[in-house]
Amino acid sequence: MSAPPQSRTLAPAWLVAPHEANGLAPLVWPSSATRDETGVLVVGGIPVTRLQEQFGTPLWVIDEDEVRARAREVLEAFRSAAARHGVQARVYYAGKAFLSAEVVRWVTDEGLAVDVCTGGELAVALAAGADPARLGFHGNNKSVAELEAAVSAGVGSIVIDSLIEIERLAAIAARHGITQQVLLRVNSGVHAETHDFLATAHEDQKFGFTLSDAPAAVARIREASGLELVGLHCHIGSQIFGTAGFEESAARIVELHASLLAGGDLPVLNLGGGFGIAYTSVDDPTPIDRLAVGIADAVAVQCEVRGIPMPNLAFEPGRAIVGRAGVTLYEVGTTKPVEVGEGAQRLYVSVDGGMSDNPRPALYAADFSARLASRTSGAEPVLVRVVGKHCESGDVVVDAEYLPGDVAPGDLLAVPATGAYCFSLASNYNYVPRPPVVALRGGEARVIVRGESIDDLLARDAGLATTPREGIA
Ligand SMILES: *Cc1c(COP(=O)(O)O)cnc(C)c1O
Repeated sequence: MSAPPQSRTLAPAWLVAPHEANGLAPLVWPSSATRDETGVLVVGGIPVTRLQEQFGTPLWVIDEDEVRARAREVLEAFRSAAARHGVQARVYYAGKAFLSAEVVRWVTDEGLAVDVCTGGELAVALAAGADPARLGFHGNNKSVAELEAAVSAGVGSIVIDSLIEIERLAAIAARHGITQQVLLRVNSGVHAETHDFLATAHEDQKFGFTLSDAPAAVARIREASGLELVGLHCHIGSQIFGTAGFEESAARIVELHASLLAGGDLPVLNLGGGFGIAYTSVDDPTPIDRLAVGIADAVAVQCEVRGIPMPNLAFEPGRAIVGRAGVTLYEVGTTKPVEVGEGAQRLYVSVDGGMSDNPRPALYAADFSARLASRTSGAEPVLVRVVGKHCESGDVVVDAEYLPGDVAPGDLLAVPATGAYCFSLASNYNYVPRPPVVALRGGEARVIVRGESIDDLLARDAGLATTPREGIA
């Protein structure tokens, strides 16, 4: 059965009209996702209708076993790819993808180090009990207070992003009487985006040092007492599918790395994160073990060509660890067929969240997918656009998807692959309270970040401070 002709004209070229719109695409959903005998979506052993009863909607759900499994898989992939060349690999979880105390505990428990990029992220990681020596600290504008906090906590490595920061950090290290290990962030001129990469001599962006400016910065760090340069760092982008961009970048960075060895050791090379995941059934990311081998081999070849020893490697995946573990649950509030000209009609399905819990479609035109979660349906699939409740026409959750044509108010809708950059990018736009995060494991659900109430929102309004409400000091 094909989709109605009017939908076909509006569907993006990549979106294939399915025969039925109940299936759960592999790789997009947590491995535990299935449907029970009544058709209800089950994640982590729990029917989502039960989660809706207990916690309401919208709801961010995260499958703990999925996070742990991906953390183990990624760590093993990079360790064994590095071991082929007799070196080690450290994997930092990029906390900006989704940081909470529990997530820090899961990933550190599985052997990952953690990367933070603000004082706030640092505080969460430390409060969760992360070993400071296994924290990395990034950012192009770390404040003196943030650097002080990192140095006092004993953060393992700080990634330097500017000449000004070298002086700042050297002064802080001197004050504390310590030697701080640092890396230098380098912009390789390679910028990878999903399938393609762009390689230029100078990339016009705020992060890092250009290849030509890096040697002077390295020299300055090496002169500074209190700083110990352990290596170069490079991150070429996010949601990258192939190895070509990483390989091109590695070649450029190793050339720089080799040229710097005359002035001292550089035991580490950090190649950042950016490993892509599947958001829809047509996304086809390179499996992480193949990526790891491709990148490690590329570094090895470049080192061999230059006759230098291969450094230990470090990586910083965020999305690849948590992305697939997250599912957002929404309730459908309204549906509205909209005539869009030339006889074409699009069905708008409005849910009770939106760009406040998932700004990625609005920010990056990111694609997501969706399924009816409270039931299956044999109704003919129709093209829909899932939208939120915000006062913004760009408030799109899923730009284009086929759902059963009888989708109706009261249905529970699930959007998969929302574990990364949804919670962390969320806002209170339109004073919509942020949902709770519920972690699932072994058939148990527990709140790991509580949801906001309207009182939470009012509590910050200083204009209301003269009329304290009950329960608020
Ligand atoms: C964002 C970022 C990462 C993580 O990116 P993912 O796409 O989530 O893997 C790693 N390193 C740096 C420096 C980043 O800015």
